[in-house]
Amino acid sequence: TTSDVAVLGLGAMGTALADALLDAGRSVTVWNRTPTKTQPLAARGATVAPTPADAAASAPVVIACLLNHQNVMDALVDVSQTDLSPAAQPILVDLTTTTPAEARRTATAAAEAGRRHLDGAIMAIPSMIGRPEAAILYSGDPEVYTEAEPTLQILGTSRHVGGEPGLASIRDLALLSAMYTTFAGLHQAVALAGSAGITAADLVPELAAFVGAMVPSIQKDVPAFDSGDHTTVGQDLVFTRNAVDLIVRAAREEGREPSVLTAVQNVVAGEVERGHGHLDTSAMIEAFRR
Ligand code: NDP
Repeated sequence: TTSDVAVLGLGAMGTALADALLDAGRSVTVWNRTPTKTQPLAARGATVAPTPADAAASAPVVIACLLNHQNVMDALVDVSQTDLSPAAQPILVDLTTTTPAEARRTATAAAEAGRRHLDGAIMAIPSMIGRPEAAILYSGDPEVYTEAEPTLQILGTSRHVGGEPGLASIRDLALLSAMYTTFAGLHQAVALAGSAGITAADLVPELAAFVGAMVPSIQKDVPAFDSGDHTTVGQDLVFTRNAVDLIVRAAREEGREPSVLTAVQNVVAGEVERGHGHLDTSAMIEAFRR
């Protein structure tokens, strides 16, 4: 091997990863489908490889950060054509965002090609890479993780979350699903208040403070979530249904269709129809589990 680490894919994220590795004094080989994007890194001392296979043969740790799973599988086919001795097998670290099932398929394909593999999920934007606030989760063989960890810690705060290859992805996607539904709810709130001429500048500070203060109360539901016992009642589902129904009705009266809230309304109404109206609102989770 000629470099400490190889990076496949120099989009916004791959470039940030390669820059952070160079900043930390590592020797880096890069590959990108569109070669022009390698130029700034080459100017900083990176070696440019003409193919993924050449990049993979150059370093003990090979980081892929491509657009999607299919791009990784295509690169892996190329990498598999390199004939390396068992001692020279690089660790493939896939930081491409994929589903858990895709991460498992990459792990299987890597194993069939005799390659060691870790799946990673980057919970940060490119400007955060190389700093402690960039959290990156990894799943896969813990011994492989331990071997790659000194390199991976350069990219951000790296954490191994389990041996099963899909675990980093599912944790990442669970958090992102909460983020997207929360933001959709925030947008809906701004639109609803806007129907009365209230500006975003007026509402958003109050909205962010209120939701920020409410979110930590999820902690009190943890025992109910993990046990499935929702009989210790704070606010029951009938109360929540009535509250949600009122807000939906108010929004329509003001000429706004609150489609995020109507999705919640359907879930709550469904649980009440199942005879669960007397249970705590934490019982909504059972609808999402079915
Ligand atoms: P970009 O769109 O900036 O870059 C995409 C990269 O994928 C480029 O290197 C591109 O090459 C390559 N690529 C696209 N299609 C192909 C193909 N058919 N064959 C080979 N290479 C291909 O995306 P990002 O860098 O932002 O994202 C990369 C990954 O990182 C994604 O999975 C994303 O979800 C993940 N990620 C990104 C975050 C972000 O904030 N940007 C945050 C967390 C994760 P080319 O230059 O030739 O087009």
